[in-house]
Amino acid sequence: MADGLLKKKVLLVFLPSESGVDGARSLYTDKKRNPLFTWVDLSLRAIIKQSQFAIPPLSLMILSSVEVKGVEQALCDMRFEEFPWHIKWDLVGISVQTGMAKKAYELADKLRAAGIRVVLGGAHVTLFPESCRPHADILVEGEADDLWKELLTDLATGSLRPLYRSDSFPDLGIPRAVSKRTLIKNRYFTTNLIQTGRGCQYSCDFCNVHLLNGHALRKRSVAEVVNEVARFQQHDQRIFFFVDDSINADPAYALELFRKLVPLRIRWFGQATTTLGQQHELLKTFADSGCQALLVGIESIEPASRSAHKKNQNRAGELVKAVCSIREAGISLYGSFIYGLDGDTLDTPAAILDFVNETKLDVPGINILRPTPGTQVFERLKEEGRLLFDPHDITAYRYSFGQEMLYKPKQIPVEAFIESYSALTSQLFNVKNALLRGLCAPRSKSAVMLFNLFYAHLYTLSRHDLKLQYEKIIR
Ligand code: SF4
Repeated sequence: MADGLLKKKVLLVFLPSESGVDGARSLYTDKKRNPLFTWVDLSLRAIIKQSQFAIPPLSLMILSSVEVKGVEQALCDMRFEEFPWHIKWDLVGISVQTGMAKKAYELADKLRAAGIRVVLGGAHVTLFPESCRPHADILVEGEADDLWKELLTDLATGSLRPLYRSDSFPDLGIPRAVSKRTLIKNRYFTTNLIQTGRGCQYSCDFCNVHLLNGHALRKRSVAEVVNEVARFQQHDQRIFFFVDDSINADPAYALELFRKLVPLRIRWFGQATTTLGQQHELLKTFADSGCQALLVGIESIEPASRSAHKKNQNRAGELVKAVCSIREAGISLYGSFIYGLDGDTLDTPAAILDFVNETKLDVPGINILRPTPGTQVFERLKEEGRLLFDPHDITAYRYSFGQEMLYKPKQIPVEAFIESYSALTSQLFNVKNALLRGLCAPRSKSAVMLFNLFYAHLYTLSRHDLKLQYEKIIR
């Protein structure tokens, strides 16, 4: 008998979000009453999907790289394909994010009813294991790098346990080669995803990174990352994406790494804090090593909001200078804002507009505060009676592209907030601004232009849904 026939078959599943950059759709349109809108919405969704804004699910890419004798793994990205029911799976692992938990539970229940064993893991399982328990045979709590190897070994030997959990974070200094063998290359705009470390030393109250990955920065060895970049480059020559929440968090590490990457002549983008504007040597090294664009979390330019939400990395007054320095180094910038923080007032949108105009930010991203269950801000808003959905139904807090209000802003009534948010996004995103921003971008001009055009569509959807949500539910 061929060896493959004896192997246990494991499938790792990634679910699409309700509405996001890789497939936005209206959450509030009554499809029966408005077929034309539905048709336009679905067509645009298909076009966006085909233009490949999607990136592979990194956590599943890492887990599918784990090799255990007697087990073979495959990946199903349900943003692009249906669940392969025709194959007899020995185990199906589903990555669960809180915004998509309902969908994950539905699939898990269906699989278990069909006699297939289900393991649930991911951020939602780590934060809310009890809510996942009724839907799974096995739970994996926490970062799964080492736990997954243990689980697959137990699967091969027939000794699976109901819970895999570790009280400490994996040591990322131990080499773990990431492979891309389970990915279908052309589905994604790049398969070159690199993570150099995990953890964040800050404690922004709307974020769960420090809760899930800890406050200590854990880094992989520079040599291992350089080897991985060189190996990935042979398989896919497209752009690299360094997925770390802030690639400049450990400046000495970043300086060593990106100096070593200069000879490889890659193009890359990543995420950084605005502190990079003051890290001159590192900024130059980023530009020299092929950095095209960075996402920076500006979040708020209101000092009262920054301190209310513990966003303390850079003072508000230094932000303009920092953004300008990064752009002057030849790197395009996506600046992410959150409007609706506790210090924000109806004057905040005008301040954001001034900031975008003064800094010539290439892609402004305007988000509404999203209280994710498990975060400090969620608990605080719950205590203050400011959540708009039942706080005990954590699956109601779904991910969307600014398409619904989940809470009441502190200083602005909900209706006035929606009006001001809608006015701000209409002023920022239109065809003229998209063309101008593309032309003025220091690098990746066409990508900047496309992103802005794409946002013009997404923010139209956001305005449409916020209005309907207010009329149908909140008022
Ligand atoms: S928002 Fe960024 S800086 Fe703040 S805790 Fe999260 S990852 Fe860290």
